[in-house]
Amino acid sequence: MTTVAFIGLGNMGRPMALNLVRAGMSVAGLDRAPAAMAELAAGGGRAAADLADALAAADVVVTMLPAGAQVRSVYLGADGVIARARPNSLFIDCSTIDVDTARAVAAAAEAAGHAMLDAPVSGGTGGAAAGTLTFMVGGSDAAVERARAILQAMGKTVVHTGGPGAGQAAKICNNMLLGISMIGVAEAFALADRLGLDRQKLFDVSSTSSGQCWSLTTYCPVPGPVPTSPANRGYAPGFTAAMMLKDLALAQSAALSTGASTPLGALAAQIYQLMASAGQGEQDFSAVFELLAKTGASQPQR
Ligand code: NAD
Repeated sequence: MTTVAFIGLGNMGRPMALNLVRAGMSVAGLDRAPAAMAELAAGGGRAAADLADALAAADVVVTMLPAGAQVRSVYLGADGVIARARPNSLFIDCSTIDVDTARAVAAAAEAAGHAMLDAPVSGGTGGAAAGTLTFMVGGSDAAVERARAILQAMGKTVVHTGGPGAGQAAKICNNMLLGISMIGVAEAFALADRLGLDRQKLFDVSSTSSGQCWSLTTYCPVPGPVPTSPANRGYAPGFTAAMMLKDLALAQSAALSTGASTPLGALAAQIYQLMASAGQGEQDFSAVFELLAKTGASQPQR
């Protein structure tokens, strides 16, 4: 039986760990929040007493942590996972973090005789609960094959995107594109409102013509055209503006370190920062429509 240490049992990690339990794996969970570990235990996993206890019988370590700083602190150092794991362990970091940290931690793991993958996800908390996540995986062919059954127990799609860091690279490129495209769709609807153009009519045209994109057809930022989109439930997330801002900041730091030119990514980061500053950080990122609609001139020109 595969024995997994799962570190980081938050909104994403908890349901992912429970899916490993359902797939018949033995899962020891570790989190700073005792309540999160209690929930895993109630679902058939085990609450580890500490890191040594979590790692004692584990051949695989999965982490789902907030950001690069936590990933470094969990893996590196004399008391970290890399130093304390059983020989030839497999590490799968599913957190969304910066590419440089992903590469540095993977190199340290490999130097110590372990295998490591960066495997960030898309699909949100709904996908985590349903086991339908998409994994973007960076690392060696051999490590990906070793991880495949575990990833498939938590997700539906596994794309091996390249060597170490390539999973994070794919994640931040995709989310930069998403952040920009959502603003574009929101601007189009804000302009349509000012022109007196019916929102459904704009949707009917753009969803079948050259303006078509996921931000419009699946996640439409105005109430009405797509009944399942967050706009129809007061912009309850979904995917928060704060999380989008985090991913755009990662994209900007990657652009800076590689010299890539991403002016729209930079502007998008500023716009979601405005949302966060206006107290909308915990709303769905598609509420950027409300920010744009609100900041237009007070007298619509008709
Ligand atoms: P979260 O804040 O709910 O969970 C993080 C968990 O890590 C918390 O329970 C926290 O107590 C724990 N933690 C922090 N430091 C720790 C440490 N040193 N040791 C043990 N536990 C520690 O966050 P989340 O929503 O589960 O997101 C996790 C990652 O997944 C993030 O990188 C996020 O960007 C990414 N992600 C989230 C979503 C989403 O919709 N929530 C979607 C895709 C990707």
